[in-house]
Amino acid sequence: CGVFGVVGVADAANFIALGLHALQHRGQEAGGIVTYDAEAGFQSARRFGYVRDNFTSQKVMETLPGEIGIGHVRYSTAGSKGNTAIRDVQPFFGEFSMGGAAIAHNGNITNADALRRELIDRGSIFQSSSDSECIIHLMARSLQRNIPERMKDALRRVEGAFSVVAMTRTKLVGVRDPRGVRPLVLGKVGENGYALSSETCALDIIGAEFVREIEPGEMVVISEGQVVSSKPFEQMASRFCIFEHVYFSRPDSILGGRSVYETRRQIGVELAREAPVEADLVCPVPDSGTPAAIGFSHESGIPYGMGIIRNQYMGRTFIEPSEQIRNMGVRLKLNVNRALIRGKRIILVDDSVVRGTTSQKIKDMLLDAGAAEVHFRIASPPTMWPCFYGVDTPDRDKLLAAHMSIEQMRAHLGVDSLQFITLDGLYRAAGVAEGRDATAPRYCDACFSGEYPVVPTDMIAKGFKL
Ligand code: 5GP
Ligand code: SF4
Ligand code: MG
Repeated sequence: CGVFGVVGVADAANFIALGLHALQHRGQEAGGIVTYDAEAGFQSARRFGYVRDNFTSQKVMETLPGEIGIGHVRYSTAGSKGNTAIRDVQPFFGEFSMGGAAIAHNGNITNADALRRELIDRGSIFQSSSDSECIIHLMARSLQRNIPERMKDALRRVEGAFSVVAMTRTKLVGVRDPRGVRPLVLGKVGENGYALSSETCALDIIGAEFVREIEPGEMVVISEGQVVSSKPFEQMASRFCIFEHVYFSRPDSILGGRSVYETRRQIGVELAREAPVEADLVCPVPDSGTPAAIGFSHESGIPYGMGIIRNQYMGRTFIEPSEQIRNMGVRLKLNVNRALIRGKRIILVDDSVVRGTTSQKIKDMLLDAGAAEVHFRIASPPTMWPCFYGVDTPDRDKLLAAHMSIEQMRAHLGVDSLQFITLDGLYRAAGVAEGRDATAPRYCDACFSGEYPVVPTDMIAKGFKL
């Protein structure tokens, strides 16, 4: 998901709509905005579909007055997968004795089922199936006298990954979980305004100046042009999601002081060193494989070409929740550039192999178009484990790499060769020159290594085996 908030600007909702539009790649199912204005009070609009289709009409935007607000774009991971109800669309709102508050959450709470059971037993009435709603109910039970303190109480009970943006009538609040699994950045807007955003690309669109990242385990409370920082959690080693670098974030964003584009290009360089092959053309699977293919081509000296063309009007395939839509999606979204491919040995670069369905179809399209050979190079290690921290990977039984060796996958996909970047290579590309330190990895890489930095409590209760 993507979260965005702004305070201290006229017509906050317009900034939020633009910010969410720039974060649309993080969630395409639904979006919502909450604002506060002294006269109108708290107002909200929550809609299915793209930001541009919902939050551009004057009719909707004029219902969201105020100089403070937050927003969310949703992609379902936990909770109601695929059949999102409007009541699952964030931001969530709560009325407390000291006033209202709204929250928007990116990540996934790994003890949400346990918390929900406990809260329901003690009288909470849940409105949605979302894990994030726990935060509001935990805040309601806190005895603290102001909302940021109640948020601290609530979030100290929450396990897993969370980057949260929240608001009261006058304060904008941002928090990251103690491991900082999901991103969150602070920007300055105009004279007195501040913005919080999942990624820097959403600061660029509103002309905000990037100030800094919210640190793992940090809470910032922003009001009247002042940013007050605190560290409410037990200090822990940070474990930022390495898959944000590989795929999830936009290439024009800066994560942990690193350009996402540059990391992806460097992944291609590492891949070309680790897994060279003789060929005529390096082609990305657009758009996710593009920077890595550029790096691979540069390092290997093999020309780069657009062998596959993407229809810009389709969304990301993996973000479409149903398997059927996802299967159709490949051809709706991608087509082979026949004139370029015919007779050539192709190095095909993609970000990941998950179920293997996309990869197989692309390979078929390349062979149909007369490719002489297809060599598949993957910009991440084999995806062997599901993510429980906010990226929608399927269950283990659907993950190709959980059941097959690389050679078996090669045969299954029907390609001439198949190589994945190593975890060490990926760490080097992501700025850790010495590679992955197995005793204290810098990033979360559980979907590749099976080493989960946060115990997935709910999943273990459901029978998941580490
Ligand atoms: P697959 O191998 O599953 O057919 O598709 C892999 C390609 O689709 C990659 O380009 C990746 O970007 C995208 N993809 C499809 N489904 C998922 C998913 O569930 N999780 C992730 N991380 N990527 C996916
Ligand atoms: Fe990111 Fe993978 Fe960790 Fe999930 S399991 S947070 S996708 S690195
Ligand atoms: Mg892709």
